[in-house]
Amino acid sequence: MYDIRQINSYFQKVHSRYYIDTNSVIYTSIAAGTNKIMINGLRRNIAGWRKANISKLNRTNMQIILVPNSENKYYMLYDGTILQRMKTQYNQNTGAEKKEASVNLICYFGGKTDGKIMCNVARFVAGAFIGDVEGKHVHHIDGNRENNKLSNLLIVSPEEHRLMHSSKENTCSTTSPKGRTPQAMAVEAGDTLQG
Ligand SMILES: [Zn+2]
Repeated sequence: MYDIRQINSYFQKVHSRYYIDTNSVIYTSIAAGTNKIMINGLRRNIAGWRKANISKLNRTNMQIILVPNSENKYYMLYDGTILQRMKTQYNQNTGAEKKEASVNLICYFGGKTDGKIMCNVARFVAGAFIGDVEGKHVHHIDGNRENNKLSNLLIVSPEEHRLMHSSKENTCSTTSPKGRTPQAMAVEAGDTLQG
């Protein structure tokens, strides 16, 4: 079932404006009360649309709806919050140049030590919808690290994860299974500790 949650509730350091859904789409909320959004460089007032459509939303049936003609960029949450869809990217550490793949997000952290860090999308999904990922790894059931939908993820211990990857069938990776070395695998496992 579709669900969307504030990432901040599960990852305390992440800025409270971030949200994630079970399809691994990440959103950031725009300031409450802001009625104007930028689409194609043009400011659009959505106050009227918001008022007319908020009653269609609720926590059990439909939690978000797309703002019409917003190029799939803006959505309204059931509480009226306007969400902007974030772009995720492939892990640069692997050397792969894959833009817009759903593996990592550049996150902005709140608090006095504001900063940004590359966060792993799978860990956000698993942490928000399955359980605590602290000290754990997140495994991709179909072996595709870009498929971070809730249904494709498992929280496992580092030991369990190593055992899962000792068989050739599942590499938890988007790259060619044949080309992967134990060293590359260790880097992958280390990557999943981020976020
Ligand atoms: Zn795995």
